[in-house]
Formats: sequence, C-alpha cells, structure tokens
Amino acid sequence: MEIIRQCGKLLEFEKRFPNGKMVERISISDKIIRFKAILSRDNGGIGVFQCYRVQQSDVLGPYKGGTRLHPSVSMNEVKALATLMSLKTALVNVPFGGGKGGICVDPKALSEKELERLVRKYTNRIKDDLGPDEDIPAPDVNSGPREMAWIYDEYRKYSESARGVVTGKPLELGGSLGRIQATGFGVALVTERLCYDKKLVNPAISIEGFGNVGQYAALKLFEMGFKIVAVSDSRGCVVNQVGLNISDLLAFKREKGRLSGFPGGKPAERIIEVPVEVHIPCALGHSINRDNVDSIPSGLKIVVEGANAPVSSHAENVLIDRGVILAPDILANAGGVIVSYYEWVQNREGLYWSEDEVLGKMTEKMNAAYENVVSYASEKKIALRQAAYCLAMDKIARAIGFRGAQ
Ligand code: NAD
Repeated sequence: MEIIRQCGKLLEFEKRFPNGKMVERISISDKIIRFKAILSRDNGGIGVFQCYRVQQSDVLGPYKGGTRLHPSVSMNEVKALATLMSLKTALVNVPFGGGKGGICVDPKALSEKELERLVRKYTNRIKDDLGPDEDIPAPDVNSGPREMAWIYDEYRKYSESARGVVTGKPLELGGSLGRIQATGFGVALVTERLCYDKKLVNPAISIEGFGNVGQYAALKLFEMGFKIVAVSDSRGCVVNQVGLNISDLLAFKREKGRLSGFPGGKPAERIIEVPVEVHIPCALGHSINRDNVDSIPSGLKIVVEGANAPVSSHAENVLIDRGVILAPDILANAGGVIVSYYEWVQNREGLYWSEDEVLGKMTEKMNAAYENVVSYASEKKIALRQAAYCLAMDKIARAIGFRGAQ
C-alpha cells in the first residue's frame, strides 16, 4: 500500500532500521491460507466456495480479525483488510496482531443449515492455524454471534482451551456484554469528538449501511442528540431532512428486514448525493470512489470511516482538496477489536464484567487513541490517516526492533 511507504518515509525507517527493510516487513503477510470448500446443498447438488484466511502479522500478539461472508470477497481484499487489522490493533494498543478471513458467498442465497455447514467446513480447514494464542476470528460483514458460535463449536471438537478462540460470540458461550454495540458506539464517539473539535453545531449526518456498525453508530448518535437525515442499506435509502427517528427506524428494519417503506422518511436514490456535513460509510470498501466522489454535495465537512477502507485513494485526494476531514477506519471503527480484546481477557480469567465496565474501558482506549492521532497530526501537519498509520507503524517497527534478528 502506497500509504505505508509514505509513512515509512515520514518515520525515517531507512535511517532508523538501516538493514531492516521495515516497510516490507510491516506490509507483507506471514501466512496466506486459500482453499475451496465444497458444500452439499439441501437440494442434493453441490456448491463450491472460495475461502481465505490471511495471517498478516503477529509481532504484537496473536493474529486477530473478522470473517467476511460476501460474494465480493477476494484474496487482495482479505490481504488489505488483514493489514488494516495489524495497524488497528497497534494504534489502539491491544496486544494482538492482524488477520482476516472470508468466504466468497452470498449468505442470503443459502439456507441457514447450508450456511452453518459451510462455516463449519471453513473452520475445520483452518482449525490447526486457529487458537486463543494463535489466531482469533471475529464478526465482519454478514457474520455475527451466530456464525461465531459455529466457529467456536467446530473448533471445540478438536481443542479444550477454546473459549478465547473466537470473539463476538453469543453471551451464553462466553461473549462479552457490549461487544455487539462496540464498533458502532466507537464510531459515534469519534464523530462526536471531531464535530466538537471542528465546531460543527447540529450537523446533518448520513449513514451508509445499517448492519451491526451502522445501526449502533446511528443509535448512539441519535441518543446523543445528533440529527441523522439519511440512512441506507443494500436495498435502499431513507431521508428526512428534519432528522430520522432512529429508534423507530431500527424497529422497522428488525421487523421488515429493510429500510425502504419506512413511514418516517422518504426514499432517495443515492445516499452519497444527500446534502450533509457529516457522512459515515458503514457498509463495504470503496463505496466512495472515482465514479461518485464528484456527485457529493459541497457542504460535506467530515467523513468518519465506520467501514474498512470505504474511501478509494482517488476519492480521498478529491475530498482532501475540498477541505473534507477524514477520520480513518483504523481509528474510527476500532471499538470492536477493543471489546474483542476484553472478551478474550474475560474468557481467560473466567470473570465477566458489566456492560458499563466494558464500554467504559472501551471509551477510555478510544479517547486515548483519538487524542494521540489528533495531536500527532497537528504536530507533524499531516492528515489524520497518515498520523494514525505512523503511530501504528512506529509501534510495530519498535517491536520488530526489540525482537532483533530472527
Ligand atoms: P453487516 O453485514 O452487519 O452490515 C453491512 C450493512 O451494509 C448491511 O446493512 C447491508 O445492507 C449494507 N450494505 C451492503 N451493501 C450496501 C450498499 N451498496 N449500500 C448501502 N448499504 C449496503 O456488517 P458490519 O459488521 O456492520 O460491517 C460493516 C463494515 O464495518 C465493514 O466494512 C466491516 O469490515 C467494518 N467493521 C465491522 C466491525 C464489526 O465489529 N462488525 C468492526 C470493524 C469494522
């Protein structure tokens, strides 16, 4: 990734680690697992699905990262997302490395039993590479507590020390209170702090994606008194310039499985074209890209990356030229991995914390990371993304330096 090279220069890696090839060491993946899973379909046929697990870096701790179930999953995407995880865990100071997994599948096209068989097959194939001290999957797009329970249960067949092998589990299987809300709440916290710092009063906000991250970001911001004027999911967008009632919208989405038809808003074609001061993409990668960046209305001031890599590098340059501030994914959506860490700690201790305790600790860590990034960016006169990458890369590089020649 170009930004890793740029930050390597800013950090003067060539001087500090003259023999180290530090940029290369930070950006290459330790291990790439790639295979096809063959699934017996309910109708007697078979399905073949491409599967990946990338173990990017364990310099700071066991590999850690979500499992994406989506038809667009590819090797390059999983590798990039695994690298983001290594940087994210370093930035927010949790003792994990980075990894990512994915299955190229449309889960909506499978029955629940088929999906369970597929996730179990996937787990079975990678089980020797997983473990609470090895590699710890978590939820991502189209996976949640149900899928984490299948991974946990499949892994348990082969190992006793299993609880901390996966995070984002149901509470009944050792999940943590607060995990389900954590990523979205963290996104809301970063949004609130940036709006305050940039003196944006009562900004109009749009949120793309209304799954785990988007729903809880919207709910928290709504509870904080922010005005969310547009929300979208894969099937449509609803707009209300006075502000959507997010509690009602959530209830509607949970009942109907969609946003379209919500009586408290009007349909809109593209969320990106709704005039707002703050946009929070919480769906897939590169949703803001070369093809649509020029259609974003001029009042946009802040983008908070709830999703991983939602802004392409071309679109980012255009937005920066327009004076838009971007809160980078490795900071903005780190609440999830922070609480995953707390889940892992609780599993090891066998002692479980209250929701307030979990979210309070998460808030402390998010605030510390936010303040570090903002002050480093202002000291070095660089963008928040560069600052976040520099802080994360510097930590990983120092750890590699301490470990010495291997
Ligand atoms: P999810 O599957 O729960 O939700 C995804 C949402 O995006 C759904 O509402 C879906 O309808 C919507 N969507 C898909 N395509 C869309 C489109 N073209 N336009 C508008 N909406 C669309 O996934 P999630 O867990 O909320 O993850 C969302 C993003 O956040 C991903 O980039 C993921 O990597 C990132 N993330 C998730 C977590 C986590 O804890 N779940 C943590 C960090 C980062």
